[in-house]
Amino acid sequence: MSAAVVLKPQREQSLLRFHPWVFSGAIARIDGQPAEGDTVQVLDAQGNLLAHGHFHSGSISVRVLSFGPEPIDAAHWQRKLQAALTLRQQLGLAGSSTTNAYRLVHGEGDGLPGLVVDVYAQTAVIQCHSVGMYRIREQLAQQLMALPTAQITAVYDKSSATMPMRERYNPVDGPLCGDARPNDVVVENGCKFHVSWAEGQKTGFFIDQRDNRQLLCSLSHGQSVLNTFCYTGGFSVYALEGGASRVVSVDSSAKAVEAAAANVDLNFGPQASHQAVAMDTFEYLRTHTSPFDIIVLDPPAFAKHGGALRNALQAYKRLNLAALRRLRPGGLLFTFSCSQVVDRQSFRNAVFSACAIAGRQARIIHQLSQPADHPISIYHPEGEYLKGLVIQVE
Ligand code: SAH
Repeated sequence: MSAAVVLKPQREQSLLRFHPWVFSGAIARIDGQPAEGDTVQVLDAQGNLLAHGHFHSGSISVRVLSFGPEPIDAAHWQRKLQAALTLRQQLGLAGSSTTNAYRLVHGEGDGLPGLVVDVYAQTAVIQCHSVGMYRIREQLAQQLMALPTAQITAVYDKSSATMPMRERYNPVDGPLCGDARPNDVVVENGCKFHVSWAEGQKTGFFIDQRDNRQLLCSLSHGQSVLNTFCYTGGFSVYALEGGASRVVSVDSSAKAVEAAAANVDLNFGPQASHQAVAMDTFEYLRTHTSPFDIIVLDPPAFAKHGGALRNALQAYKRLNLAALRRLRPGGLLFTFSCSQVVDRQSFRNAVFSACAIAGRQARIIHQLSQPADHPISIYHPEGEYLKGLVIQVE
């Protein structure tokens, strides 16, 4: 018998609305002694079984795996992974000949809280954000390999940076099953990229910018483009693919800049009109005064938690202002925030302030977000994190 988390009276409402987290403050008592990551039952104050989930210490005590009486067995995981794959097939991602890098599992958005799975060609890269998922990663890996038509031949574990309680579990990245290589060349909308999940950030590539890169591609013909926080050059490659006259990629990491240059080379050879600069973006914008037609700002999350919100909004404002000062009249600003705690309106206000200080007429021509393979459960708005605006300035 698994342990049971019993809720305080009236605290079952959010669960009945399919919100997948049980907070510690809603719990009256725990029957049994669940270990970190154990599967537990969740009961209302009357003893009715409401859900099953992974138990964790901390403010989110249970991450719900199923809203109902069905047990969490191998068939459960199989159903969930299959449903995730079916959505990606419906989206034209799984099985596509022009894109073979996609997110197969996006945590709560796929009813699998604590689990991220990104597919790169035939390798699935697992990233566990909870001990519950980490403890069953080998089983999940086997089941990913067994998914019919997904053609996954290897699974690599990239949980070391995202796992909680790292001192206790000491997670080490590496192959889980199959002949998992540390990197590969993938295609995204026909553009090629070297992706190294062993060495890169996240699972190796920022898959979540796929649609936004495609938009940049469609607007780049004949334009000079500055891609800041370029990482492995996703936006740079698409800008060149779209016919940009010149692209400058900037990142403070020398390794990232090298990777961006290598990806441009992979697609267009050494003749491409591309310059890769290892420099702080603020510094670049301050010291390079020649204007661009398009500037992309895709910084790392400036606020990782609510406490950092005020400073983060100031930083977005300063960054956008600095970029606006380098945009030609009629130019486009692609500006993003991937901070989950910065909501869409606050981000827009920060960009508004930057435009107002710059004293330029500006209009929003696109409002951007995360792509369809990063779905957001409508009951779990916390799953929305990527926000972007395309602003045209006079
Ligand atoms: N746009 C990228 C993802 C950006 S990730 C893509 O589409 O793939 C954020 C990047 O910002 C990282 O590569 C990190 O090295 C870089 N970075 C962080 N702080 C920076 C700074 N102050 N100036 C320039 N780059 C920075």
